[in-house]
Amino acid sequence: MTQSDRATPNAEFDVVVVGAGFAGLYMLHRLRALGLSARVYEAGIGVGGTWFWNRYPGARCDVESMQYSYSFSEELQQEWVWTERYPKQAEILRYIDHVADRFDLRRDIQLQTRVTSAHHDATTDQWRIATDQGDLVVARFCVMASGALSAARTPDIPGLETFQGRQYHTGDWPRETVDFTGQRVGVIGTGSSGIQAIPHIAKQAQHLTVFQRTPNFSIPAWNGPLSTERQEAWKADYAGHRARARTTRSGILYEYSQRGALDVSDEERRCVFEARWARGGANFTHAFNDLFINKASNDHAAEFVRERIREIVQDPAVAAMLSPTNHPIGTKRICVDTDYFETFNCSNVALVDVRANPIEAITPTGIRTTDAEYKLDSIVFATGYDAVTGALGRIDIRGDNGLALKDKWTDGPQTYLGIMTAGFPNLFMITGPGSPSVLTNVIVSIEQHVDWIANCLAYLRERGLARISADARAETDWVAEVNAVADRTLFPQAASWYMGANIPGKPRVFLPYVGGFGRYNEICAEVVAEGYRGFCLE
Ligand code: NAP
Repeated sequence: MTQSDRATPNAEFDVVVVGAGFAGLYMLHRLRALGLSARVYEAGIGVGGTWFWNRYPGARCDVESMQYSYSFSEELQQEWVWTERYPKQAEILRYIDHVADRFDLRRDIQLQTRVTSAHHDATTDQWRIATDQGDLVVARFCVMASGALSAARTPDIPGLETFQGRQYHTGDWPRETVDFTGQRVGVIGTGSSGIQAIPHIAKQAQHLTVFQRTPNFSIPAWNGPLSTERQEAWKADYAGHRARARTTRSGILYEYSQRGALDVSDEERRCVFEARWARGGANFTHAFNDLFINKASNDHAAEFVRERIREIVQDPAVAAMLSPTNHPIGTKRICVDTDYFETFNCSNVALVDVRANPIEAITPTGIRTTDAEYKLDSIVFATGYDAVTGALGRIDIRGDNGLALKDKWTDGPQTYLGIMTAGFPNLFMITGPGSPSVLTNVIVSIEQHVDWIANCLAYLRERGLARISADARAETDWVAEVNAVADRTLFPQAASWYMGANIPGKPRVFLPYVGGFGRYNEICAEVVAEGYRGFCLE
């Protein structure tokens, strides 16, 4: 028992929500409609979660604007006007701020407050939640809306603290303008964030050195203004588009091919890939329906992209370094870029292979690899996140008998449907491990989870019930299903953050449910229709 477990709470709510990003905001909106009292705690000085922190140059969503938005309000989706095919960070944040104001959400959100612990008190059947601002509150229910890509991670490179220049992390970018003009800049990391930031930094910096450990597949975005005609055509049937999206694998309306890549001639396959490349975006990986399950099919898509890299990048040695060969295309998150490969034709940009010659140390003046020393004024860490479980792991969460969540999950997360974990009654997760989350348009996943939780709370209230928990047996079966579905795909062949592979010591388990959003949504609905099958209601 800790000190906060004995102290007298300052306030009581029906529900505490952790995080005021897309998930926390919509959760609060639904709780209000149910007449429940709620407090949302948010670490940032503004709402928006990941989109509040990710202000790095070039930050942009790679799901198209018309789809990367809430569907819960017809008025909102009809009235909001997006300006580009893919929304940039500032525009998404404006949208989130608009939502917070439009639905009068701010009065229940406490900013600049990080939840440090959440302990379940068996005697009162309440969660005791403590924050870094000294709050101690109790609530019957606690909802973790803390995000799947929110725990930014800087690798433990020796000498990090000795660097005399400026350092930045893409996932925790300063609010003030960062100007790299005249500077020697180093970027570590070539995932989605690095691939977006690098072309912008290259335009400003006197010299840019990109430290690449694993080259990534990237498809051109071909971003541009969103025409009024296109926007209006979409809005004419917004509800229909949303409903169709919810039946798909990723919750995104792509053109999902019904054919395998080996079912067509070489010429036809090439034509299909060319057309997809010309359209741009992650739609490319749906050019055939077996790219995620058949290595031979995947090889064709991968080679097509490598050919494009060789075409774009003038120096053949640099093109070879930029060409991914150690994982099937799509098994690390596919990137979507604007002028990424082209940037390596600029005379002020150099590529360093830190797989061949790893970074040994950060020095006061730059970065030292095993074979060279690079003098730098600024270092940008585009090194990603402790994904899916990281934000939960930073909170001391304790359930029945004081069991710590991090101890329960030592060998990997265990959840039922990614919504609850056995032994932690009345604790919900939004887009938790074992749900489709990061493999989907996350707003579609968020809305589905929030609706499921809100409907569950209403169900409990209508029946005079106070408690829901996941059944341990149902959880074991779900974890087995999550693994089995992943094993039928090529995903486990990549050392990706989906597998926890980017964090030293993190268990290697496939974190999201890859069976598809549409199927997952059906399963969640079946569970409810069968009286919350696999949950214990008291
Ligand atoms: P990431 O995909 O995990 O990429 C991190 C990069 O840093 C990788 O290239 C990684 O190399 C490298 N790295 C990590 N530690 C390193 C070390 N010690 N030495 C050298 N290199 C190191 O992270 P991210 O780019 O921030 O993206 C994370 C996810 O956020 C994306 O996959 C996507 O889901 C989302 N996101 C989306 C958008 C968008 O919508 N456009 C933009 C940004 C992010 P290895 O590959 O070898 O580990």
